Amino acid sequence: MSAALAVCPAAAGNTGASSPVPANDAAILYRRTAHVCRTCLGPVMEHGGGYVCAVCDASGATPSSICGCGIKVQGPGGRRRLFACTPNPARGPASPSGYVITFAPEAI
Ligand SMILES: [Zn+2]
Ligand SMILES: [Zn+2]
Repeated sequence: MSAALAVCPAAAGNTGASSPVPANDAAILYRRTAHVCRTCLGPVMEHGGGYVCAVCDASGATPSSICGCGIKVQGPGGRRRLFACTPNPARGPASPSGYVITFAPEAI
């Protein structure tokens, strides 16, 4: 967890670890999805045929293996209620995320 803020003279030509999503590197292509990480609510990105969280180290073969769509809980009457990633209905300073995890419209 050590972040080197000072640029070492020997490594001055090899910086660029500041952005979690390299936009100009064609070899490392991240595509934003409509899903958010179930662990940290970070955006889930499609990358190299799999899906990764842009914030933490979560990764999986499908979005629902790391996003809110995969969360299942025991609801009233023993029915399982599913969560789902949806566009943030109250996006603003208090909740800047583009997508959030909410209850799915129908319990399954
Ligand atoms: Zn995450
Ligand atoms: Zn999802």
